[in-house]
Amino acid sequence: MTGFTTRFAPSPTGPLHLGHAFSALLAHDTARAAGGRFLLRMEDTDRARCTPDHAAGIIADLTWLGVTWDGPVHHQAPHIAAYTARIAPLAARGLLYPCGCTRADIRAALAAPQEGVEHAVYPGTCRGRPMDSRQPGDALRLDLARALATLAGSDLAFTETGPRHGGTHRIDPAAALADIGDVVLSRKGEDIVAYFLASAIDDADQGITDVIRGEDLFSFTPIQVILQHLLGLPTPRYHHHRLIRDEDGKRLAKRDDARALSRYRADGMTPADIRALLFP
Ligand SMILES: [Zn+2]
Repeated sequence: MTGFTTRFAPSPTGPLHLGHAFSALLAHDTARAAGGRFLLRMEDTDRARCTPDHAAGIIADLTWLGVTWDGPVHHQAPHIAAYTARIAPLAARGLLYPCGCTRADIRAALAAPQEGVEHAVYPGTCRGRPMDSRQPGDALRLDLARALATLAGSDLAFTETGPRHGGTHRIDPAAALADIGDVVLSRKGEDIVAYFLASAIDDADQGITDVIRGEDLFSFTPIQVILQHLLGLPTPRYHHHRLIRDEDGKRLAKRDDARALSRYRADGMTPADIRALLFP
């Protein structure tokens, strides 16, 4: 791999909170210490929840913290059709099938993970449906068993440099089938693309060598590695960091306004105070 490149990739669905500030500062500082590049990406494909105001607020908060990024901010929302086009070859290889299972099921499968909410593995109801049976609004699912069969002999693995899971992780196909299943990659007509797909494509397109992100996303890494192999994309190194929790050990949620960075700022805390709080 060439020079160290990492990114901070928030979803602008609310104000920046302390947990995000930790992630941004860690990625930024690591890149600067390595003499590498630090990019800022807005993972704003969920247009019902992401707003330009939240994106502007995040940029203002990062700027106040002293975080600087290289190049323009990359927004995903204008490129949804392009992400979807990238999976067309998978359909041609017979690795996708249309699925009309309920919208609620599909929403749940596409959403970024929430603590305490187990990802439900799709039971395969529509598996085997031909692509030409696709109805408006049908999602496209990955036939994971077939996909893994085409990858037999590939080195499905990633290197983790984070504190909790450090080392080389090999992806066990049987475990992937049990834990991940036939994930939804996109949904036609509503311009919805899976978070983990858009993120994996951008990591490759932006030359990310090291993904630094919260350990809540660790469980998404195997499907991202599988997609990287299916799409011919490189696998970066991963570093999943600890999550910032409040005094009760509860994870600081973005929607918890009391923990918004702007609140600390309004209370008179300086960027140095925030750093001292996050990196004791
Ligand atoms: Zn279905």
